[in-house]
Amino acid sequence: MATAAGTVAAGTKAAEPDLVLRGVLTGADHHTYRSVPFTVPEGVERVTITFDYTGKEEHSVIDLGLLGPDGALRGWSGGSKRLFTVSSVDATPSFIPAPVAPGQWALLLGVPNLRKTAEASYTAQVYFSRSLAAADEPPPLRVPVRSGAAWYRGDLHMHTGHSDGSCVNQSSVSVPCPLFLTVQAAAERKLDFIAVTEHNTVSHASELRELQPYFSKMLLMPGREITTFSGHANMFGTLAPLDFRVAATPDGWNRMLDQAATLGGLVSINHANRPSGEACMGCGWTNDADIAKVQAIEAVNGTDADTLLSSIPFWQAQLQRGLHPTLIGGSDDHRAARGDTPVGTPTTVVYAPELTQTAILDGIRAGHVFVDIAGNGSRLLELNAETGGRQAMMGDSLAAPGGLTVQFKLHVAQADGATIKLVMDGAEADLLPARDVDGDDVQRSFNWISDGKPHWLRAEVRDARGHLLLLGNPVYLNR
Ligand SMILES: [Zn+2]
Ligand SMILES: [Zn+2]
Repeated sequence: MATAAGTVAAGTKAAEPDLVLRGVLTGADHHTYRSVPFTVPEGVERVTITFDYTGKEEHSVIDLGLLGPDGALRGWSGGSKRLFTVSSVDATPSFIPAPVAPGQWALLLGVPNLRKTAEASYTAQVYFSRSLAAADEPPPLRVPVRSGAAWYRGDLHMHTGHSDGSCVNQSSVSVPCPLFLTVQAAAERKLDFIAVTEHNTVSHASELRELQPYFSKMLLMPGREITTFSGHANMFGTLAPLDFRVAATPDGWNRMLDQAATLGGLVSINHANRPSGEACMGCGWTNDADIAKVQAIEAVNGTDADTLLSSIPFWQAQLQRGLHPTLIGGSDDHRAARGDTPVGTPTTVVYAPELTQTAILDGIRAGHVFVDIAGNGSRLLELNAETGGRQAMMGDSLAAPGGLTVQFKLHVAQADGATIKLVMDGAEADLLPARDVDGDDVQRSFNWISDGKPHWLRAEVRDARGHLLLLGNPVYLNR
């Protein structure tokens, strides 16, 4: 993408631990505690530890805790955790989020059982992360929820009781809604990933870590909705603090977006075309931010696609300005799927090599995305281009010198009876031999002879009543 941000590359974290702590416990250690010291250097934001030991067949048991540099107990997991992480923002259950100060820390080993003649060899792998960016999480925290390249379906915008999400309690009173209910609703919708985006806070990050092992088929990503008096924008990919009080400083939005990029954040402008007022304070995009500094635009918010509130024209206007912000969608669910725009409506569908946070975010940065407006779970829209042996998918750029023929392939699934529309540079393009979708799996090919100039071409699919079903990112030509 031709945008300024995206400076934190995924997959850069070394696979090797920073420290490996090994030792042997014997029968003499039965019913004792042992501290295993290690040094946390300056500049570390997250400590992640994996732990294992031998001798379980002899009923050897080693419990696990963590002591901070002041000797304070930072958590105790007994024998229940072999992997944990702690940072100032989040921690694995059993452990306490708190700032990671440099100095001498210790693993605290408890020995509830070790037979007189037994020996247990333990190994702890210690990983230090120097930022709270997802891309800097160590490999044990980045195990894919699913492997393999695929279109992954998710929802990138929702609120729970960690901000203003509410639901009715046992006494029929509206209360801050437990996060679990929203995640459960997303799982019932069979989504592959969700991002929970609370207003200006990431207090939900620990709870997502707690829920992730239970929701083993759905990737849970922490995000936040940067919520200001002059616009809302989601940020994904980092748990680092970000000062959202842009009204207090001149050029505040641009400074904040620069900081977001430094932190490894992916920023999406939300519901840009909403009116701002007492009904929705700061909801409209009324600031002077340089939109080249954002990576995505939530052009579909809930069910607004075919309404006057749609932000699709706002997104398209940025394409016309020469920018490449990725089209995404978000339900903005506030009611654990019991409201008008339940989680999954719309669904953002991302092509990614695996189901991890960094892979999904990189797929969004690359524009490998279409939006399934109703989120029906199986609709597909693909637009691919090829010329001179070079290929491009939605979001990619293809160089096509003047006179060269570009071959396009369009693939629409599960939209029988619908109609395809192509849009080039903001106007409908008459390039398709047949616009009707006559079947559950339809492929169309067409050619375009390049004039050598910069263009963008996108596809959309509408049902028989003209309602939008699928909306894809453009293939960019010569830009
Ligand atoms: Zn908002
Ligand atoms: Zn929101």
